[in-house]
Amino acid sequence: MTTPKPRILLLYTGGTIGMVKNFDTGALKVFNFKKLLQRIPELRQLDCDIETISFAHPMDSSDMNPTGWEKMARIVAEHYPDFDGFVILHGSDTMSYSASALSFMLHGLQKPVVFTGSQLPIGDLRTDAKENLITAIQIASLREDNAPVVREVCLYFEYKLYRGNRTTKISAEHFNAFTSPNYPPLAESGVHLRVNREQLLPRTTDSFSLHTGFNGDVAIVKMFPGITAQVLRAITTIPGLKGIVLETYGSGNAPSGDWFIGILQKAIESGVHVVNVTQCSGGRVNMGQYETSTLLKEIGVISGADITTEAAITKMMYLLGQPDVPAHRFKQLFEAPMYGELTQ
Ligand code: ASP
Repeated sequence: MTTPKPRILLLYTGGTIGMVKNFDTGALKVFNFKKLLQRIPELRQLDCDIETISFAHPMDSSDMNPTGWEKMARIVAEHYPDFDGFVILHGSDTMSYSASALSFMLHGLQKPVVFTGSQLPIGDLRTDAKENLITAIQIASLREDNAPVVREVCLYFEYKLYRGNRTTKISAEHFNAFTSPNYPPLAESGVHLRVNREQLLPRTTDSFSLHTGFNGDVAIVKMFPGITAQVLRAITTIPGLKGIVLETYGSGNAPSGDWFIGILQKAIESGVHVVNVTQCSGGRVNMGQYETSTLLKEIGVISGADITTEAAITKMMYLLGQPDVPAHRFKQLFEAPMYGELTQ
């Protein structure tokens, strides 16, 4: 008996990958996704059945927001029983935020959800879109013992598959636009497609469920030498603010002056959750390693460990948006990995 081909749902949300140049005006415009197979006939050679679906209004990912995250996650959830894998085509600018957000929404995921995009439009002669798209579909189709090999939200770009909630965009120029500073690639594509199995999330026994709800009453505050009390106070006292991701120096250090600690302490006492992440592109927060971070720990600042800012802000918005997460559990839940987004 022949095993049926994997069924892959390809969702186009927008971004450069789905654009072609209008040769009269030179402007980029979204191309008709129904014609995908015509434009990339190589897709017919893949050993899977592909169905395509597109946002009614494809967007530049700079316009992405929690409503868009929920829209993507709902499409995956609605089609979950009928497909073996999902590929989401998305603008690269905020792809890491979306991949992080979906990783928190899709509980008990037992199928691959692979984000990809490109730096050049699919219609461009030198495009990186074809390789990204073809390999992303191949990864979403990978099966062993009649089960998917990858069972998490990931991001494929320029020969590397990463855990989505570990990624960050690092280049607006190079095809190699993403990195995963604190977690190794899940797979690498060369002559062979090599999956680093020991890095994959282990198989879950939870059944699949979709959890929506994000709270946007949050802010990211990046430290810089000379930041004033006025600026910090203005942000921390925004009415209704529920959380701040504080991008600190090195291993989680910040100014040690009374004014700085005092303002943060007041915010924390008034119920604002403050998470410490490093503004370095790799490494982790270790509050207490230096005196300049000991006080942060004492006033109740939450450690982001080695999480990216993208995953930190989306996890914060997600946890704040869940009715079953009371304020007193926020710190404990944030500091524990949900879907491999941080190492404790
Ligand atoms: N500005 C585009 C976007 O993020 C860039 C891209 O598609 O890579 O939607």
